[in-house]
Amino acid sequence: MGRFQLADEALAKVWICKKCKARNKAGAAKCRKCGSHYLRPKRREIKVKK
Ligand SMILES: [Zn+2]
Repeated sequence: MGRFQLADEALAKVWICKKCKARNKAGAAKCRKCGSHYLRPKRREIKVKK
C-alpha cells in the first residue's frame, strides 16, 4: 500500500506534454522542452485494486 501511495503521489506531481511527452512540473504553464501548452496531469490513469 505504501509504495503505491508514494508512486501515485509522485505521478500526481508530474504533467505530461501531449506533444513531446516530456515530463513537466504540475502546474506548469507550458512544456519546458517544446513550449507546448498541451500538458496533461498524469494521474488517475492507474487503476488501483483494493
Ligand atoms: Zn513538450
